[in-house]
Amino acid sequence: MSPKPRVAVFKMASCDGCQLQLLDAEDALLELAGAIEIANFAEASSRLEEGPYDVTLVEGSISTPEQVEQIKEIRAVSRFLMTIGACATSGGIQALRNGRDLAEVVRQVYPTPEYVRSLERSTPVAEHVKVDLELTGCPVDRGQLLGAIAWLLQGSVPRPPTTPVCIECKRRGYVCVVVARGEPCLGPVTRTGCGALCPAFARGCYGCFGPSQPPNTEALARRFLELGMSPVQVAEKFRFITGYAPAFRETAERLEREEASAT
Ligand code: SF4
Ligand code: SF4
Repeated sequence: MSPKPRVAVFKMASCDGCQLQLLDAEDALLELAGAIEIANFAEASSRLEEGPYDVTLVEGSISTPEQVEQIKEIRAVSRFLMTIGACATSGGIQALRNGRDLAEVVRQVYPTPEYVRSLERSTPVAEHVKVDLELTGCPVDRGQLLGAIAWLLQGSVPRPPTTPVCIECKRRGYVCVVVARGEPCLGPVTRTGCGALCPAFARGCYGCFGPSQPPNTEALARRFLELGMSPVQVAEKFRFITGYAPAFRETAERLEREEASAT
């Protein structure tokens, strides 16, 4: 019998929510566990084995000097490396500090800032090492995650959808919150994968799956301005969980410059 594929799951700077999507999969996880060898998954077991690994999942952004070294070591022992979630693929909510005075941010957040050793910027894993597949979302969608692992175990690489949330919204017959209520929604520029979860509850999307391809962020920004928002308010919409993704960041920066030049 051929040996089972060795799978590892590692965490960088994150809240563990994407790993929990895997742990909460119950029956599907048990089935998966029969098909693979879980060699290193600190959230699930204290039995931590060294590489090499056939498939490695990485949650979280690169936020400390130690993580810069750790991710290179992980890459060196991983045949296929998949990053999961908004932190690993675009820097996460912790990337809100990027471009600000780190010492001041740390001082405002922590009562003992002298113990905090962070990098100036929180960055996606792909800025540091080659990544073979990215799954976005905050958290990552469980169905997409299990599906991707199943594809990989069969020797194929999945292609997650990059179309906007609006497509899913229309497929499911949800009422558009922009049209019906004049509420700003990032659905037109955010990639699907969640099943249009927020519009299903009559709320605008805040972009947790990151930019769709290609995202017309400038057209959407103009629409938000027409709704009566100021350039800085529109910029804040783009600067959220996946706000460090280039498409969202560049539009936010342009809007902030526009507001600054007008005052
Ligand atoms: S609610 Fe948002 S995601 Fe749904 S159709 Fe309207 S703009 Fe698109
Ligand atoms: S609708 Fe947008 S913010 Fe809500 S879960 Fe989906 S991608 Fe995330």
